[in-house]
Amino acid sequence: MNAEVAQLGARSVTARAYGKINVFLSVGPQRADGYHDLVSVFQTLDLAETITLSPAAETAVTLTGPRADTTVPLDDRNLAVQAVAALSEATETHIPVAITIDKQVPVAGGMGGGSADAAAALVAYAELIGCDDADLLTRIAAELGADVPFALTGGTAIGTGRGDELVPVAGSGAFHWVLATSVASLSTPEVYRTLDELRRETSTATDDTLRDPDDVVTALTAGDPHALAGVLHNDMTDAAIELLPGIAEVMESGRQAGALAALVSGSGPTVGFLVADPTHALDLTVLLEATRGVRDVVRTTAPAGGAHLVTG
Ligand code: ATP
Repeated sequence: MNAEVAQLGARSVTARAYGKINVFLSVGPQRADGYHDLVSVFQTLDLAETITLSPAAETAVTLTGPRADTTVPLDDRNLAVQAVAALSEATETHIPVAITIDKQVPVAGGMGGGSADAAAALVAYAELIGCDDADLLTRIAAELGADVPFALTGGTAIGTGRGDELVPVAGSGAFHWVLATSVASLSTPEVYRTLDELRRETSTATDDTLRDPDDVVTALTAGDPHALAGVLHNDMTDAAIELLPGIAEVMESGRQAGALAALVSGSGPTVGFLVADPTHALDLTVLLEATRGVRDVVRTTAPAGGAHLVTG
């Protein structure tokens, strides 16, 4: 153990951050740099990733919890490892840590679990080294990935640019969601490519114009699930269904079973169902668990908070 590790003793720090759902996602045309401009409205979901950092001889990751998926990399491709590395580099601290991730957010479901891990790891490592520079954490979050800044702040926000330039929204109430992940997977770049192709084929001039999220923000501010159901929007829907037609069947099953609305989550293949209350959520969960192509069903509410320390 090096001197800095010895000085920190056996102190562990735990932090939590949450998965998210994009209740509105408008995608602009592809830019010269290959990115697409987005207008997104996110809410964090009450599905927490809990990260514990303990000073150790060398950095290592352990995954626990119900969604400890074997596809998650445990080396320096892991977003929590990257977050610790970036903050230790910026602060020249270099404390190796054992990282335990308690995984509640389904992996690769467009629900931002990896981004939540990065945000929680930033908050935990900052506490470990006594860093209270919030601007530094925000800057590093944006470098780690487009969804990491939102995982850091949480709640409800509008994102523009790559989705990472955030303006908070004063949401009210709690929305009930049932999320069905898929046995199949989709590559986010491929969904974007398919969206561009579909737009070229249909060549509707207005197809790739960024839309305004005003109606969604109004429904979120009012805390009105029925109003929100009417205005949920995701420009990626047709492209995701083009690549994986089973998504449309899952959406239809949920609608028939009384969901207020069905929404492809991000670039899919997870489908989110907005429901009126916890009873509807339970009924829908039972049905979806028996639906072909569905891997995992999660019941949760939105919004949840941002990344924070867990004490005691
Ligand atoms: P995105 O939409 O940002 O691509 P997602 O929300 O669909 O991501 P995540 O669970 O965040 O899904 O994982 C995306 C990929 O990131 C995984 O396939 C995995 O290989 C990689 N990854 C790296 N670190 C993590 C982590 N800590 N947890 C989950 N996945 C991680």
